[in-house]
Amino acid sequence: MRRRDFPIFTQRPGAKPLTYLDTAATAQKPDAVIRAMEHFLSHENAPVHRALYPIGERATARFEGVRAQVSAFLGGKDPGEIVFTRNATEGFNLVAQAWGRAHVRKGDEILVSIMEHHANFVPWLMLAKEKGAKLVVVNMTRDGLLDLRDLQGKLSSRTKAVALVHASNVLGIVNPIAEVAQLLERHTLRLRAKEAPLFVVDAAQSAPHMPIDVKRLGCDILSFSGHKLYGPTGVGVLWGRRELLEAMPPFLTGGQMIREVTLQHAIWNEVPQKFEAGSPDVAGVIGLGSAINYLSRIGWRRIVAHERKLMAEALRRFTAPQIRRYVRVYGPKRAAQRSSVIAFMVAGVHPHDVATLLAEEGIAIRAGHHCAMPLHQRLGVAATARMSFGLYNDEEDLERFFAALTKRVLPLAIQETP
Ligand code: PMP
Repeated sequence: MRRRDFPIFTQRPGAKPLTYLDTAATAQKPDAVIRAMEHFLSHENAPVHRALYPIGERATARFEGVRAQVSAFLGGKDPGEIVFTRNATEGFNLVAQAWGRAHVRKGDEILVSIMEHHANFVPWLMLAKEKGAKLVVVNMTRDGLLDLRDLQGKLSSRTKAVALVHASNVLGIVNPIAEVAQLLERHTLRLRAKEAPLFVVDAAQSAPHMPIDVKRLGCDILSFSGHKLYGPTGVGVLWGRRELLEAMPPFLTGGQMIREVTLQHAIWNEVPQKFEAGSPDVAGVIGLGSAINYLSRIGWRRIVAHERKLMAEALRRFTAPQIRRYVRVYGPKRAAQRSSVIAFMVAGVHPHDVATLLAEEGIAIRAGHHCAMPLHQRLGVAATARMSFGLYNDEEDLERFFAALTKRVLPLAIQETP
C-alpha cells in the first residue's frame, strides 16, 4: 500500500530491495513530507512569533496552523492544548518535572506498568527518587495483557499519577486506556478525593496506527513523536488538558516562554508558549503537518485494515509448525489486540545475530531491549528481536522475512521446549 509514495523504497539498480520492518523505531517518510520541508526551507523560512515582515508572518501562520491540525488529529478543540516538543520522551520529562515537582510529595505513589518504554518510566523513577515517593509497578497477565485487576488493587489514596503506554513497543498489545480512565474516575469517587490521579498516556506507538481521540480516551496528558508518524525527527507533541497546563509551572525557561522579565523576576507566557522555550523546529513542525495531511488523505479505515491484515498474516506464519518449533512470539495472539509490532525469540540464536543475518538479506528489523528493560527482565530475557510494520509494508515483505528467517536463521536454532 502506497509504497511508491516513499522515495527510500526506490530501488537502485543491482541493489537488494529494502524490506523495512523497523517502523516502530522510526517510520520512513513520504515524498510529501520531504517536499513540504524542502519547500518551507527554500521559500518560507523565517522565525516564528516575532517577525513583522511577510515571510515571518507566513511562517508563524503555517506553524500555528499545524498546531490546530494536530489538535484536530487528536480529537481536541483547543489548539492551545498542543505543546510542540522534541519527541515523546521530552513530553514525559516535561510532565514529570513540571507537574511532578509541584504535586508529588514524600510517601506519594506513582503507578507505571511493567511494559513501559523507558521514556515513560525513567522520568517517573527519577521523580520518585527525588521526592521520596514510591514507584508502583502494575503487572501484565500471562497472555501479555495489562493486568487491570492488579492495577485496581494497587490504586490507593496515595496514588498521584498513573503513567501508561497505549500500545506497547514490544508486546504489541493495545491497552484499554478508556477503561483505565473510568477505573480512575470510580476510584476517585470512592475516595471522595478532590483530584483524580494524573493520567499520562504514551501514544508513541499508537498515534501512527490508529485514530486517537483524547476525550474518548479520558486521559489528562498524551505524548507522541513525529518521526514514528511518518514525519521528521526532532518534533514531538504533548497534549494536555488546558486547566492542567495552565496550572503547571514551566519545564525549560528562556526565550519565547516569557511575557516579561526584569532583573528580579519573570512572568510566564500563556499556554502553550509557556512550555516552548527557545526557537522551535519550524521546518519539523511543517513536516509533521504534512505527515498528518498524508495520513488523513489515505484515511484511518484503510490504514487500520491494511495493517491488521498484515499482522494477522504475520502471526499466522509465525504459528506454522516449522517456525513455531523454534520461535517464540511475545504478546497477544489475536491481531485485533495488537498494534503493529511483533517481538520474538529464536531459540538458541541471539536476537542480534538474528537481526544481522536478516540484514544480509536486505531485511531491517530491530534487536535489543527496545528501551523496555524492566519488561525484558520480567520476560526473563535480555533482548528480543522485533519486526514492526508501517503502511508501506505488504505481503511481499512478509514473504521475504519468513524466507530469510527459514533459510538463514532457523538452521542455527535449537528446538523450543513446548
Ligand atoms: N514510547 C514508546 C512506546 C516508544 O516505542 C518510543 C520509541 N521507541 C518512545 C516512547 C520514545 O520515543 P522517542 O524516542 O521518539 O522520544
